[in-house]
Amino acid sequence: MKSESIVVVGAGVIGLDVALVLAKRGYGRNTTIIAEHLPGDTSINYTSPWAGANFSAISASDANALRWDKLGYAYLLSLAAKDDKDAFVKESTSTEYWDEMPSPAKIDSMAKYLKNFKEIPAGDLPSGVAYGIEFTTITLNAPMHIRYLLRKLTEEYGVRVVRKRVSDITSGFLSKDTKVVFNCTGNASRDLNGVQDSKCYPTRGQILLAKAPHIQQNVMRHGKDYETYVIPRPYSNGNVILGGFMQKGVSTADTFSYETESILSRTTAMLPSLASSETQILAAFSGLRPSREGGARVSKEVIQVDGTGRQGVLVHNYGAGGTGFQAGYGMAIEAANTVAEELQALA
Ligand SMILES: Cc1cc2nc3c(=O)[nH]c(=O)nc-3n(C[C@H](O)[C@H](O)[C@H](O)COP(=O)(O)OP(=O)(O)OC[C@H]3O[C@@H](n4cnc5c(N)ncnc54)[C@H](O)[C@@H]3O)c2cc1C
Repeated sequence: MKSESIVVVGAGVIGLDVALVLAKRGYGRNTTIIAEHLPGDTSINYTSPWAGANFSAISASDANALRWDKLGYAYLLSLAAKDDKDAFVKESTSTEYWDEMPSPAKIDSMAKYLKNFKEIPAGDLPSGVAYGIEFTTITLNAPMHIRYLLRKLTEEYGVRVVRKRVSDITSGFLSKDTKVVFNCTGNASRDLNGVQDSKCYPTRGQILLAKAPHIQQNVMRHGKDYETYVIPRPYSNGNVILGGFMQKGVSTADTFSYETESILSRTTAMLPSLASSETQILAAFSGLRPSREGGARVSKEVIQVDGTGRQGVLVHNYGAGGTGFQAGYGMAIEAANTVAEELQALA
């Protein structure tokens, strides 16, 4: 077997999680990651460093989303229990509010597996809130967590990494030894030759990085046309992420002072202790969630690799929207499962 038997195109959390699942199954030394951007880079075309990030009910309520969330939560919980500081993940308390009743399927599903899940009595809900829950979430320091993943993959599992932009997904088939390519290109799947999925669209979010060491809890409010959230960033010397926006189809990298004001006024109304003189706003950022109509695509296809009639197996794993950190590991397990036979044949 060669190091390019399996190629993962993309080094956001989705590609890194796929490489991790493959490495844990014994294919680390047979896997090469190709990506234009790697952990440590920043670009509007690289979403993962801009995430909050935590586990929340922001995801959809269809069967795929519920399953990926559940698998992702179990993985993150175990990671927080054994590798929290190295992996930049941490258990913390979370409160979520909805202005309108959420889907019962979603709440039933989450209630079954979330640690310390509790419904908030109606009389204790803030004004305008229809429903609320408390539970133990996992927070991730997104830019540091992806660095951890890359380090683990290269140093512990021997995964090879090549910084390179491909113009066509078939270029992922690096040589005749490449049997399986995973497409984990996020927003790029809309225009990338060989994929060109018109269901993909960006969902822009502006966030604020604040220093607020006195804030230890996550709070989220899901409104009809807004999302407001406070996420303490683990192992960051007291930084907190304040958000946010869910702007469908908007792709600017710019940040706007009026959006900063909106975030500050909404988060402070939700969590008044943010108004303390201890809180300092450090920066505003813009990121583009890789959304897709109908939800993420995790599926396999057999394609012609070149003009010689050679066939290759392409596994798509993109369109994670606002859930790549919470659901990415679950998506990765299922993406790898689609090629269980092909992987066995490599041995
Ligand atoms: C403001 C904000 C807050 C968020 N909060 C959360 C949260 O709290 N919890 C959560 O779970 N998620 C959150 N998310 C969502 C999460 O960030 C995304 O779901 C996730 O980062 C998507 O990862 P990805 O790997 O699909 O894409 P990306 O991180 O964009 O990675 C794509 C990779 O593909 C590579 N690539 C693309 N095209 C090519 C090409 N042609 N050739 C070579 N390489 C290529 C890129 O260089 C990159 O390496 C948030 C997102 C934003 C913007």
